Amino acid sequence: MRTPVPDYLAEVADACAPSTGGELASYIPELTRVDPRYFGLAMATVDGSIYSVGDAEVEFTMQSISKAFVYGLALRDRGMRAVLEKVDVEPSGDPFDGLSFEASTGRPRNPMINAGAITAHTLVGKEGIDADERFDLIHRLLCDLAGRELRVDDEVWQSEVRTSDRNLAIAHMLRSKGVITDPAEEVISAYARQCAVLVTARDLAVMAATLANGGVQPVTGKRVFSGAQVRQLLSVMLTCGMYDSAGDWVSAVGIPAKSGVGGGILGALPSQLGIATFSPRLDAHGNSVRGIQTFERLTADMRLHLMEVAPPARSVVHAVRVVGEGEDAVRVFELSGLLGFTAAERVLQWLSADPPPERIVVVDLTEVHHIEDVARRMLLEGMRRMRLDGHVVHVVDSGDVLPDPDPGDGVMLGPPPMAI
Ligand code: GLN
Repeated sequence: MRTPVPDYLAEVADACAPSTGGELASYIPELTRVDPRYFGLAMATVDGSIYSVGDAEVEFTMQSISKAFVYGLALRDRGMRAVLEKVDVEPSGDPFDGLSFEASTGRPRNPMINAGAITAHTLVGKEGIDADERFDLIHRLLCDLAGRELRVDDEVWQSEVRTSDRNLAIAHMLRSKGVITDPAEEVISAYARQCAVLVTARDLAVMAATLANGGVQPVTGKRVFSGAQVRQLLSVMLTCGMYDSAGDWVSAVGIPAKSGVGGGILGALPSQLGIATFSPRLDAHGNSVRGIQTFERLTADMRLHLMEVAPPARSVVHAVRVVGEGEDAVRVFELSGLLGFTAAERVLQWLSADPPPERIVVVDLTEVHHIEDVARRMLLEGMRRMRLDGHVVHVVDSGDVLPDPDPGDGVMLGPPPMAI
């Protein structure tokens, strides 16, 4: 069978293709040379399957999309506390090139606007390294995320350097407030170079899937970020990634995302997917018009919105059986799926509201594929209390999903001697 997913993506792309609204970014002169008709869409799963349609293999400059990953790199290199001291995480409601600083400290509002991104850029690597070394670290990171060697568009880089009065002004303000210490010209040149790294929509989908996958690149298997770094990164993308239209984006699309004036948008849906679009015409916020439409359509059709309320996890207790009779009767609880806090709460609520009359109780985890640590502790405590109530508790865990199963006073592992 040929999977229908690419056909489905093609259908979404066809529906959005007629959109020609928006304008090419012109404040970086070289960006006006891009063909405005380009339109690519790509999707990558956390298992490393990649689907793409249209111009998904055409290279374009990352621009502000790089900000998200460079923020992650700063977190990786300097730690959360040091980075937060220099860059806040409050949505600014200002345009991407706004002069948005916290009044008392001079901290930029967040790392997705230029002021915060320029600061995060200077936090990459050890203190005291030069601009080229810093760029090399950033370049390495971006290549690791894409899983291939990425090039820089030198024309776009130099074009931005020649017209970067506003970013230079921002860098000088940051220096005047002591937020950055490096020479403004050097920082802005290296920052513009980071923005000029060339990617395709397909690359961006894989990079986003790395975030969706908790920091492990799904194709190469390389860990790029820790889980905590990804959580921070995705939180900031969700609240600030689309600048002064972040609220519209969150309500209409509901996927942590980052856009760039090169025409790319990347979205990462935790534990599920990376999605990317490339369409160079932009709205007044600097976000791709057709990219937004495509994300809106995908999220509506595929119910990808983060706040989409899934059916409650009622299937956790999959079956309850009583085997045998009288003294030898055994109550078997078969659990299934993924056990997190809410699922464990349901099981415990169930056991406490309706205590089994049988002395022997079996908790069968055969159909459970993952137990979060909080749920593990809750279940074990529940079993310990059942023992105190006089039950003999057995756990069937043939898939080894319950590490360290002793709740303190010896719950038996393995089914009871009688058939269940
Ligand atoms: N290099 C661009 C700048 O700093 C990136 C802006 C963007 O993509 N929104 O102005």
